[in-house]
Amino acid sequence: MGSIGDFHTHSTYSDGKLTPTQLADMAHRNGVRVMALTDHDTTEGLVDMAEALCRYPEISLVKGVELSTDIPGSEIHILGYFMDVENEGFQRELACFREGRLGRGQEMVRKLQALGMPVTWERVQEIAGDASVGRPHVAQALLEQGHVKTIAEAFDRFIGREGPAYAERDKLTPEQAIELIRGAGGVAFFAHPSYTKDIEGVLPRMKQAGLTGMEVYYRSYPPETVDWLRSVAERFELMPLGGSDYHGLGNEGDREIGDIPLPEGVVNRFLAVGQQILAQRQAS
Ligand code: AMP
Ligand code: ZN
Ligand code: FE
Ligand code: FE
Repeated sequence: MGSIGDFHTHSTYSDGKLTPTQLADMAHRNGVRVMALTDHDTTEGLVDMAEALCRYPEISLVKGVELSTDIPGSEIHILGYFMDVENEGFQRELACFREGRLGRGQEMVRKLQALGMPVTWERVQEIAGDASVGRPHVAQALLEQGHVKTIAEAFDRFIGREGPAYAERDKLTPEQAIELIRGAGGVAFFAHPSYTKDIEGVLPRMKQAGLTGMEVYYRSYPPETVDWLRSVAERFELMPLGGSDYHGLGNEGDREIGDIPLPEGVVNRFLAVGQQILAQRQAS
């Protein structure tokens, strides 16, 4: 089932396979009317994305970003929307996160080399291009070298959180990420909550920090999961939202942009919040 909105997508500016232009073509093909680009730790793809959407005036763009944060034993991703991307403090923080990804990528390459898989840092950087380096780029290098048959296998055997070649990077707490997004005038949403252990344990502190909503309609979540997350969102008075998290990496369960059961009412409620933020910003 298609949706008119998709609020979670990645481009070549982070670890997605398609350029903003190609993402725009896909959104158009799938009948999407509003989409957010939510690259990891960068808003730099938004200029290209807006330019690409000039060809499709029926599609509007929501400015987004995705930040990774840590809690003991688990990871939480926070999506930010409608930030003032000109905010200097915000951009400075993002630049520091991207810088942190470099050292961490090199560490994973060193670990892989020690494990007898000679992927090179040069090649990982080539694959990433101008993008902020992520584990999918390392996985791609492993795949090219024939050390694994799929990207998923690279995560399962080597660079997943518990894998022997995984390296940490300095991460914010969820509260800090929420504050960073709010500090730049945006709203924060909890991404793919089912990847996090003990969702209901972490939600009170995130709500306290000013979380606005959470993803309920995510990628290939089955109806039971959607129902459960919708009830959690209601209980915590969080706005439901969702997206495909499209990366174009060919993983199992991948969905194209717009290929998610996000109801139109949910899209409109979210856009009303955005309109209010943008109107207030313009007035001030
Ligand atoms: P990073 O931000 O560098 O730690 O990389 C995280 C990204 O890796 C996520 O946004 C996903 O795109 C991808 N990823 C994480 N786990 C897996 C997995 N098990 N299989 C495939 N891709 C994954
Ligand atoms: Zn990603
Ligand atoms: Fe994520
Ligand atoms: Fe994502």
